[in-house]
Amino acid sequence: MTHGGDTIFGKIIRREIPAQIVYETENVLAFRDISPVAPTHILLIPKKPISALSEASAADKELLGELMLEAAEIARREGLDKDGYRVVTNIGANAGQTVFHLHLHIIGGRPFQWPPG
Ligand code: 5GP
Repeated sequence: MTHGGDTIFGKIIRREIPAQIVYETENVLAFRDISPVAPTHILLIPKKPISALSEASAADKELLGELMLEAAEIARREGLDKDGYRVVTNIGANAGQTVFHLHLHIIGGRPFQWPPG
């Protein structure tokens, strides 16, 4: 796994490339996925460049809690909570992680299968 490097999400945080930003705080940023897999597909990231959940540490405890609570809040605001939705984070090759900056996928607006493919 790539560690600590700058990624496309770093460029979005710094507004070096455009994104459809839906929510921002001092610590987190949410924007629409460029290639949505569902009617609603939002990426929620910490501004801190943690490469994946597996690379977070105890020092990130509060930040990770904030991410989870903000994911639920964004889903509520997008009207996803009535029918349900999914929050996913991919870690490494087997999960298909392609951007090595921790992100939660918030996806909804259609039913999903379980187990995932
Ligand atoms: P991963 O596969 O790493 O879990 O997810 C990376 C996600 O980032 C993918 O769903 C992909 O469509 C999205 N993505 C990649 N590059 C960009 C970009 O430049 N802008 C936006 N908004 N999403 C991106």
